[in-house]
Amino acid sequence: MKKHNFNSGPSILPQEVLEQASQAILNFNNIGLSLLEIGHRTSWFLEVIDEAKALVKELMNLNDDYEVLFLHGGATTQFMQVPMNLLNVHDTAAYCDDGIWGHKAIQEAALFGKLHIAASSKDRNYTYINKEYSIPSHSKYLHITTNNTVEGTQWHQFPKTTVPLVADMSSDIFSRNLNFNQFSLIYAGAQKNMGAAGVNVVVVKKSLLQNLEKPIPAILDYRNHIKANSVLNTPPVFAIYVSLLTLRWIKKEGGLDEMEKRNNRKANLLYQTIDSLPLFHCPINKEDRSKMNAVFFIKDEAIQNEFLETCKENGMVGVKGYRTVGGIRVSMYNALPYKSVEAFCDVAKDFSNKRG
Ligand code: PMP
Repeated sequence: MKKHNFNSGPSILPQEVLEQASQAILNFNNIGLSLLEIGHRTSWFLEVIDEAKALVKELMNLNDDYEVLFLHGGATTQFMQVPMNLLNVHDTAAYCDDGIWGHKAIQEAALFGKLHIAASSKDRNYTYINKEYSIPSHSKYLHITTNNTVEGTQWHQFPKTTVPLVADMSSDIFSRNLNFNQFSLIYAGAQKNMGAAGVNVVVVKKSLLQNLEKPIPAILDYRNHIKANSVLNTPPVFAIYVSLLTLRWIKKEGGLDEMEKRNNRKANLLYQTIDSLPLFHCPINKEDRSKMNAVFFIKDEAIQNEFLETCKENGMVGVKGYRTVGGIRVSMYNALPYKSVEAFCDVAKDFSNKRG
């Protein structure tokens, strides 16, 4: 039986993407070779990169002021690569301290320049998005995490600012239709809404990369990757191909408007159910709740494990909360079907009736 996959990342991918990826490992595009056996500079693979880049831009409705890169490593690499590429030592960057991932990004950025914390929600365990931010006008950029995977909060309206906006979209990229032009740099690890682990997508406005006064390692310099069309060295070919398949799937299904519609429907059902059951408690500020990762608790901690066990018996994986937060986390990425959320809600209602 196929599981209901609520994993937070790596996480559920569309079935057809898995099938096409498997096929490409055996015989890529009927060329008689595996995708894993061809050179990254062959026209076969360059076509993959070019199509993937074009699809990112098309889905985000971005023009040629922006460049799309597929780079090694997880989003954690971007925590240091962003400030390394954007900051000179005397420059200031503003950061929103909105969750543990954003906090890690802050720690890395401090190695490269001066930091200003524009807002923090640490005072209430990151259970809300603090919109009382202050952004010095001389900041090189403002960094936010659009969706806080661990804590279950999400920015639904973005800071209005004259400084360039930089966003870690690792856990909600391509989940909704946004005005992507308001961002100067977007990055995301692919392993949630856009493919397999091992690749980052970085979307950057080229004009942002003009003022660096210091040398940085060649392999970490965005400008070199732009010149080399993301094949500066051997890129994570398989992960990039899975991203291409996922991007094609998103487009075929109706694009970001359709993803947003589906994700709203799933999140509404989940939160309505949890809020209606006295056994559960969701501490996240209502207007800041994440549509990707719902984080909540069972009021009586003693029966939490029993609930998790019940989920397991019903074919559900990945519902245990993050190790530092505890509780329950239901991740509802693009590929998660509505029926999985329905199945979870049925289990929650049933459990509540028996134990509530
Ligand atoms: N940022 C966010 C919002 C994340 O959710 C994660 C991982 N879940 C990361 C950064 C770190 O990503 P990686 O493990 O790919 O380095």
